[in-house]
Amino acid sequence: MADVVTMEKIVALCKRRGFIFPSSEIYGGLGSTYDYGHYGVLLKNNVKGEWWRAMLLERDDIVALDSAIFQHPRTWEASGHLQGFTDPLVECRACGQRFRADHLSELQCGRKPSLHPGDGPDCDLTDVRQFNLMFETTMGPVKETGATVYLRPETAQGIFVNFKNVLQFSRRRPPFGIAQVGKSFRNEITPGNFIFRTREFEQMEMEYFVAPAEASKWFDHWSAARQDWYVELGLRPDHLRLRVHDVSELSHYSSATSDIEYLFPIGFSELEGIANRGDFDLLAHARFSGEKLEYFDQASGERYVPHVIEPAAGADRATLAFLVDAYDEDEIGGEPRTVLRLHPRLAPVKVAILPLVRKDGQPELAREVRERLRGRLAAEYDEGGAIGRRYRRQDEIGTPFAVTVDHQSLEDRTVTVRERDSLRQERVAIDELADELARRVAAPWQTPKLG
Ligand code: ATP
Repeated sequence: MADVVTMEKIVALCKRRGFIFPSSEIYGGLGSTYDYGHYGVLLKNNVKGEWWRAMLLERDDIVALDSAIFQHPRTWEASGHLQGFTDPLVECRACGQRFRADHLSELQCGRKPSLHPGDGPDCDLTDVRQFNLMFETTMGPVKETGATVYLRPETAQGIFVNFKNVLQFSRRRPPFGIAQVGKSFRNEITPGNFIFRTREFEQMEMEYFVAPAEASKWFDHWSAARQDWYVELGLRPDHLRLRVHDVSELSHYSSATSDIEYLFPIGFSELEGIANRGDFDLLAHARFSGEKLEYFDQASGERYVPHVIEPAAGADRATLAFLVDAYDEDEIGGEPRTVLRLHPRLAPVKVAILPLVRKDGQPELAREVRERLRGRLAAEYDEGGAIGRRYRRQDEIGTPFAVTVDHQSLEDRTVTVRERDSLRQERVAIDELADELARRVAAPWQTPKLG
């Protein structure tokens, strides 16, 4: 089936249905910064919740952390970010715009958008210089005496600087992981493509500490496990691929990196990176802090600096991928419909409760049904407007089930459950509804786009 999705359609739907808005819109917006509305918050929370589930509930070897966004500035010296967290930048003297030098073939000339920067007759690009992506600010009330601090450009370093704490207090031994979800900030030269690349974003990172000899085994494990996570949550496997970095692409800390890429409307692009960071970070922080950051096995007397395998995902980028993969258009009874075929576990609202008409005791019974689901499933009650329009609204926000209360419901206390994708309707007893819906939400799911 041909994909009907475009980035423009996703942006429009997100705005129309209250998922994501341009930030500070009443002031004309702030370049590529976005605010999440109600359904966007619920969806992204579900994405992060599923990540935590995979890291914590489904395993015993990973612990959680929430480190501060501000860290001691020495952190960024040790990690190499101060020196090396740069992107190559060129500026055009003709139009004054700045571009990422390694992305010129994907960017538009400031004066002739049909051309790439440098290809227009007036283009006058400077030499490439390295631009540091960290945002700087000053801590303390007096600017002159305050120390310069940085908004973290990744959550990973907060994990490394807490390695010793976690080792001591959680009584872990390799292999074990520390997982963190939180905001990161990068002064990207060319942000864009909606929430794909922004300057403020959320990461979901896990550092997995292993014996050096086991590093490549665990690198393979996490490369496969992280792809499986996306597939289990509904992304089409043929829209995902693993791209192994060649040596010239590797970051300063990495001995091997693979990107999980998703086929966004802009083409296959990074969704998550899996890196073998070796002992780079623990050694660097040990050297800069003077602390021993190593593992000592009392039983065997063995002492070593663990190697680190890092799956690093973006919560916003994953949310975008789930939205893109879910977006679909079809027809019901000759009427066009836009529908988000989200995995029920990701859907912001699991069930809509709709009285067929606003009379004859139907709203009262529908509200009773809604109360029975409270606290168990994210539900929405809606009695306004024609039933077809209410279904359409729920289809657009990806609600997998719609429960309709009709005249028969008042006679036999059953309701119809309509499925978003198959449009099948079945009668279910009100007494069994909560269990039945909870079972369906938790059941394995595959997108109908796979046919
Ligand atoms: P890219 O090559 O796209 O700039 P990266 O390789 O620098 O990404 P990592 O440092 O590996 O990214 O970060 C891990 C994940 O964090 C990425 O796979 C992506 O999902 C997310 N991420 C990184 N930068 C951004 C950004 N500017 N906006 C949104 N998400 C981001």
